[in-house]
Amino acid sequence: MRRLQNTFLQLATRMIGFGLFIGIVFPFFMLLLGVSRTIAFSSLFLASCVIAGVLVGFFNIVITSVTVKRKLTVLTGKMQEVKGSIITISENGRIGDCNPEHCSIPVETDDEFGQSAQAFNELISSFASSLKMLDDIKTFTAIFSSQLDLHTLSEYALDRVMKGTSSDAGALLLEHEGQVVVLHSFGIREAQGLSADPHILRAFSKGESSSITHPEHLIVESTLTQFHPKAVIIEPVKFKNVPIAMILLAKSESFQAETVRQLSIFSQSLAVALHNALEHEQLQKLAALDPLTGILNRRFGMVRLHEEYSRSVRRGVPLAILMFDIDHFKQVNDTYGHVVGDRVLRNIASQIRQGIREGDVLLRYGGEEFMVILPGASKEDAFAIAERVRHIVRENITTYGENKINVTISVGLDSMPETTISGEMELIANADEALYRSKNAGRDRTTIHC
Ligand code: GH3
Ligand code: MG
Ligand code: MG
Repeated sequence: MRRLQNTFLQLATRMIGFGLFIGIVFPFFMLLLGVSRTIAFSSLFLASCVIAGVLVGFFNIVITSVTVKRKLTVLTGKMQEVKGSIITISENGRIGDCNPEHCSIPVETDDEFGQSAQAFNELISSFASSLKMLDDIKTFTAIFSSQLDLHTLSEYALDRVMKGTSSDAGALLLEHEGQVVVLHSFGIREAQGLSADPHILRAFSKGESSSITHPEHLIVESTLTQFHPKAVIIEPVKFKNVPIAMILLAKSESFQAETVRQLSIFSQSLAVALHNALEHEQLQKLAALDPLTGILNRRFGMVRLHEEYSRSVRRGVPLAILMFDIDHFKQVNDTYGHVVGDRVLRNIASQIRQGIREGDVLLRYGGEEFMVILPGASKEDAFAIAERVRHIVRENITTYGENKINVTISVGLDSMPETTISGEMELIANADEALYRSKNAGRDRTTIHC
């Protein structure tokens, strides 16, 4: 307001000064127009001209004040109201919640006043969207610093980033052991195909963001329609400057330059969270695996057995387990040493894996004992699988220099509900007992608990 008063004071001084100047030079014009010198320079005429000039200047400033100052006062008043609303909203909630009624001023004319109002509104809207993004990043970082599950993280991240950029579809892709995999996608038809998309692969190899206009190969599926997006952005998620993931966003209209800038800030937060989740997953895998053979260890294998047992009881489907023990393994160690014994153990683990199905669970139960959990298998199925594995093992040879080492295995099996049991530990005890009988009967054979 003070600035406005200063401007009007300046304007008043200039206008009155200009009026004074005109009042002083006016008698000279009179001379040129032929008015006699005595009249033109008479003190009364001079004083009248000066007073008239000053009065014109004064009225000018009054008229300007009334028209311009009123408009300016209204404009600044509205700006002050918006400022007040923004302060209240920032204190109580999210700036994104500020509706146009409170956070913008009406543009009523297309003159300089209208343009000022328009510019002010644009400034406020870009300020609001920056604050909203900052708010989102704060929430995002807080949630993600505690979220270690890779899939929950991907789902949440994609949802947030799509909402923040008003995208119609999106995907989050991860590079894992040299392969690009789609972690999560929304609204993209045949999203799995993105893992071989040349734009994505190029973005991974260059580590740079890119944008594509009118991509023909991409189809967005919304609730009622399908369409080719107008714009697609691919943004790398880099950890220590290495792209570990890509965010792909698609929209039916162009993305704003501001969105692209915000996306890069967003991806930096995501990079740390993704890295932590990947590390966690890796650690969990390591904790579950037996370091020598790479198959599940006993502790995690027992957790899996409990899960499979509970599922079988719930669904009323069969469950079988096989217990394997290598025959005369002590002799292998005694003859060739422990290092060779370890190699034989690794080979046998992979031979057992060859003989079972994808959904079956193989674990190292003890030193040279393995267990296989067979969900859905009856005694008959389990016997066939045990015999298949036993033959694979007996036909395989581990070579060590000149030596060819051939071992056999003994197997014990039991299955439910053919055997009525009260818990998974009883299933293990029964299979163990059948294994003992295989050993006593001469080894290299399969015995069913009965
Ligand atoms: P059988 O089972 O036929 O009665 O005879 P066995 O010689 O296999 O007897 P047993 O099962 O009692 O012996 C197990 C041997 O397995 C003894 C132990 O040194 C060896 N062993 C256990 N764990 C490992 C391991 O991680 N590496 C190696 N090299 N040997 C192991
Ligand atoms: Mg043993
Ligand atoms: Mg043995």
